[in-house]
Amino acid sequence: MQLYLYNTLTRSNQPFSPIKPNVVRMYSCGPTVYNYAHIGNMRAFLFPDLLQRVLRVVCGYKVDWVMNITDIEDKIIRDSAIGSPEWKPEMGNQTDNPNENATKLALFYEREFLNDISTIGIKREHFHAIPRATDFISEITDLVRRIIEKGFGYEADGSIYFNLTQWRKSEKYGQLFTIDTDNFRAGVRIDADEYERDQVSDFVLWKAHKEGEPSWDFELNGKNLRGRPGWHIECSAMGHATLGLPFDIHTGGVDLRFPHHEDEIAQSKAGYGVETSAFWCHNEFLEVEGTKMSKSRGNFFTLRELLQRGLDALDIRFAMMSAQYNSVYNFTFFGLESTAKARQRIQDYIYDLQDTISDSSSLKNVNATELRVAVFAELLNNLHTPKALERVFAFINSNPVSGLEANSRMELLDFFVELNAIFDVWEFGSRPTKHIEIPAEVSGYAEKRWQAKKDRNFALADEMRVKITELGFTILDSKDSYIIERL
Ligand SMILES: [Zn+2]
Repeated sequence: MQLYLYNTLTRSNQPFSPIKPNVVRMYSCGPTVYNYAHIGNMRAFLFPDLLQRVLRVVCGYKVDWVMNITDIEDKIIRDSAIGSPEWKPEMGNQTDNPNENATKLALFYEREFLNDISTIGIKREHFHAIPRATDFISEITDLVRRIIEKGFGYEADGSIYFNLTQWRKSEKYGQLFTIDTDNFRAGVRIDADEYERDQVSDFVLWKAHKEGEPSWDFELNGKNLRGRPGWHIECSAMGHATLGLPFDIHTGGVDLRFPHHEDEIAQSKAGYGVETSAFWCHNEFLEVEGTKMSKSRGNFFTLRELLQRGLDALDIRFAMMSAQYNSVYNFTFFGLESTAKARQRIQDYIYDLQDTISDSSSLKNVNATELRVAVFAELLNNLHTPKALERVFAFINSNPVSGLEANSRMELLDFFVELNAIFDVWEFGSRPTKHIEIPAEVSGYAEKRWQAKKDRNFALADEMRVKITELGFTILDSKDSYIIERL
């Protein structure tokens, strides 16, 4: 089945097929592990999770999915510095070795991050690799060397910079994000990992050692340029080392288009001589209650804070997956309540199918294959999850389980198992016993109806069913018993 994806590189919906037959190599920019992940971060990881599942389940590809861990970066160094108020006792004692302190802080938050993504349904077994930047220092320095050899890198004050003026003479810069050439500042050097669009200039590949900062040796032309990598070069080196270039899909949040991804494209092509990725796919921002999430507005939430408020991680997963990844998603507590109900509606339908699977008495034959094709067609259209779910709801609303023929129920159950390999928010075990207050009147009618059915007095059974319905309940029959549910 043909998948169409919006490719930021070409600014269009493009049919996707992998470079190597049947295997999709996908790289996702992972977290900078200096704090707990917030729900905006979660969206950036749920998007590639959804994508890799559609590629596997619907398209039938093998997916080699890599997500890196940035464990050396400005903010990690800031928060692991001796005396930083961000240092937590759980990270252990600080030492006088900056490398060790940065590692302790990063490892602590890496563990928390991996726990968080597993809570929200992103499974470890779906990753090909989760590389850490500090395990790839020699690959990073090798790439810096290559860039210098090709004439696109130069040294200044012990740091190495990417020569953007030289690069722009023959190559494009600004493929993912329109760069206003008036903003280009020739010969100006930027040391920070993050910078704004009006600061387009030579960016740092390798940063000279500063007192109190982690550092590694870097032999260059007989000199030791002790220092540490810039953020952007880490992804270039890890993508090349774990997947080979060019790979098929690179994902990240829209905020990473510039400078992170622009710089990654330039560095990799300068050093390795090939393009990075055929597709660049970006998820949009998440807002909370209609505004940008920020600590000062008081609408900044980590996943664990939401769980402490009693929200269900799978409701959060389902809510985020219910919006198309490349539209701004507005997270609201009210909205989450209704998506929780929507998730439960499908869950109840699945339980109803399971509970009545051995019952052969019902009537209507429905085409599960047609539903499957329609739902998957929406997913293949740039992962249009809202439309896919709309189709599911339209179907279950017009086809209550109690009216379906046995084969149809079996086929539908198979379809929901497949759908759950993508959404991963429903259960297929036995229905948990939930406490519903059933009035004595209703259970009395239900008993009478069951007896009437055994006596083959169908007129009386039907009469009882009507009475039960009038009181706001419904009956689901299985072979040897029945269940009373609220309508
Ligand atoms: Zn990255």
